[in-house]
Amino acid sequence: MSKIIEPLRGVHDILPAQVGAWQHLERVAREVFAAYGYEEFRVPVIEQTPLFKRSIGDFTDIVEKEMFSFVDQGEDHITLRPEATAGIVRAVISNGMLRDNRLRVWCMGPMFRRERPQAGRYRQFHQIDAEAFGFEGPDVDAEMILLSARLLRRLGLTRLKLLVNSLGTPAARAAYRERLVEYFGAHEADLDEDSRRRLHGNPLRILDSKDARTQRIAAGAPRLLDSLDPESRAHFDSLCAHLSSAGIEYHVEPHLVRGLDYYTRTVFEWTTDALGAQSTVCAGGRYDGLVAQLGGTPTPGIGWAMGQERIVMLLEAQGLAAPRERPDVYLVLAGESAQIAGFTLAETLRDAWPNLKVQVNLGGGGIKAQFKRADKSGARIAAILGEDELARGVVSLKHLREETAQEECLLAQVGERLGALLGSKGTRTAG
Ligand code: ATP
Ligand code: MG
Repeated sequence: MSKIIEPLRGVHDILPAQVGAWQHLERVAREVFAAYGYEEFRVPVIEQTPLFKRSIGDFTDIVEKEMFSFVDQGEDHITLRPEATAGIVRAVISNGMLRDNRLRVWCMGPMFRRERPQAGRYRQFHQIDAEAFGFEGPDVDAEMILLSARLLRRLGLTRLKLLVNSLGTPAARAAYRERLVEYFGAHEADLDEDSRRRLHGNPLRILDSKDARTQRIAAGAPRLLDSLDPESRAHFDSLCAHLSSAGIEYHVEPHLVRGLDYYTRTVFEWTTDALGAQSTVCAGGRYDGLVAQLGGTPTPGIGWAMGQERIVMLLEAQGLAAPRERPDVYLVLAGESAQIAGFTLAETLRDAWPNLKVQVNLGGGGIKAQFKRADKSGARIAAILGEDELARGVVSLKHLREETAQEECLLAQVGERLGALLGSKGTRTAG
């Protein structure tokens, strides 16, 4: 026998039993985006490597050590997208979508980062992502946050906390950066290795360090929020007012920074205490300079990304995961002519009752074996078609999950009867 090929480290399969929770999350997300007038946008999983280097920033974890990059047979430098924003910005520029200067879109799909795998942290993971372009004021910041709040609420999730902060303008941030270099420079010997390395490249990231000693030092660092430029201050205050009047509870977290370089002004995160170390389930912020940085007409932008694995973990932990999809009916077929007639019956049922889930027994087998399979399928009802039933033009219906007597029903009426037994199964189609 040949050797089994293992999956890659940090890459996971989403099993049929888990898919229900994923579909539920994605269905609710679609509905909520529609309710806010956001359109779905599908962009490639692979992009040119320089796109991510130019947008995410050289001193970020992602660009420094986490990208899956390769040179293909045609010498193109390619990277599997580590996040969605850069690709969407590239796409709105390439497709000339910013000509009327306004756009609200969302997307969803796999992202790739070569991180150390652990619970809630994978090398292929999935994000739901929202982006808006062309809106300068704090109203869109509020809308973005309200949208994420509604999605989380619609899912029924609890134990979530919203953190907000402002990083000011690039100029304010640059001045703040100098103050941070000075502050952390005085504590250099006590910083963790990564933070020491970042001291001159990206000192803001030290505030985000997961190292306990560095965190204690960071707690005393100067706060950008205390020295915001007046316009950024007004922007932030207005956002907070919007959130308050919408009844959204938030916490101002002056040391909240984001891992990527391109953020300006508003940044926010939804965190939970229910998932251990991997506590952020959704994160985002404003990136007013990014479109221009990638060669587009200067256009403000804002977005967020939600980690689907972490949301699904929360749904499961909080007993909110949708039950596994099961067939309604398992069709037991006994005898050769019933085998053919059964296939026709199943197709007729699916034609007329598109919401009815019919699983047909495949591969023959005795009645006993077929009933075992019917039971294992999770179906509520077994419909039995044997030579005898066929000769009389009937089907036997047997309840698999409750003590109700088996009954017979005319072949022509079986759809109607199943509909009645199973509760509402949608309306019959015309054709
Ligand atoms: P973290 O601080 O947890 O590394 P991040 O700041 O790198 O997160 P973002 O780039 O903002 O994360 O991505 C948004 C969201 O995507 C995160 O809040 C998280 O829910 C999810 N996410 C990010 N990286 C991973 C990963 N490797 N595995 C699973 N989910 C992830
Ligand atoms: Mg990260």
